[in-house]
Amino acid sequence: MDQDIRLRPRNRGMAPTARRRVELAAIGAAAVLVLGVWGASRLFGAPVTAGTPSVTLAAHAATAAAPAPTPAALATAPAGATSATAPAAASIPATTAPKTPTVTSGAANTGSTAKAAVKSTGFVVVIDAGHQAHADLHAEPIGPGSKTTKPAVAGGTSGVATHAPESLINLDVALRLRRALTARGITVIMVRTTQNVDIPNSKRALMANAAHAGLLIRLHCDGVAGSSSTAGLLTLVPARNSWTDPIVSSSARAGRDIHAAAIAATGARNRGITPRSDMSGFNWSKVPAVIVEMGVMTNPVEDRRLSTASYQQRLADGIAAGIARFAAGK
Ligand SMILES: [Zn+2]
Repeated sequence: MDQDIRLRPRNRGMAPTARRRVELAAIGAAAVLVLGVWGASRLFGAPVTAGTPSVTLAAHAATAAAPAPTPAALATAPAGATSATAPAAASIPATTAPKTPTVTSGAANTGSTAKAAVKSTGFVVVIDAGHQAHADLHAEPIGPGSKTTKPAVAGGTSGVATHAPESLINLDVALRLRRALTARGITVIMVRTTQNVDIPNSKRALMANAAHAGLLIRLHCDGVAGSSSTAGLLTLVPARNSWTDPIVSSSARAGRDIHAAAIAATGARNRGITPRSDMSGFNWSKVPAVIVEMGVMTNPVEDRRLSTASYQQRLADGIAAGIARFAAGK
């Protein structure tokens, strides 16, 4: 798929451009500014859309060399929909090992040289930006030893109006959430920081287990087949089963804290909290785990909102506030 990657406005790589924009603004009239921004964008090799909150760069390595996803992979489907129940051939998920996770310490500086170092809370959060550039439809057990399987990484949904892939919105918010949590002294481990990965859902949970994380937060967006009016924020938590029993109550508490804070920060329609027993990323997890379905991309209004930097930031800030509340209550 031919797609763009939206970078964060405060991305360090764009700092020279941003500074230049400010300098130009000080110099002169609006017309000069527009031309100056255009000139700066040419200078730095990136198209810049003046006056909009997010900056769009053409995709580079993330998708250029990979084959296009199949129509099936692009089909709108609610996250976690069961699509395969063939007997499992192995009890251990087969896949390529994920890259070394990116760890950002809550005690490290948060990217601003002016701010004092943030005191670490010692709380560790693993952020899983749901999906990836391309689906991995290999079957994997939905839990340790299970004969029921699901694709290792489903394709995810996409925006009915923007055509943005869900994986990219999830990643955009995940990167903002990392910054928000780090600023609160929470140590963050990212399952992925780019689109170009292949990390099964089971492995994502295993990464959280290996880190002895206080929380695995999984960011997704929904697609509701046949409905353009359904919208809002839905939180999923593990239902009780033989795998999730140790994490059900702690995950439920995290889910309540995160859901309430995210609704408050965004004003999104409240779709409630739903326990699920069929999510590989829950069943493989030994640490509290929560999915936030941040919005419904088959609703054109919510789809467009999910692509804006301002709404993504509200989502990240709200989710971070909920996580901080959960962490404080431990
Ligand atoms: Zn999803």
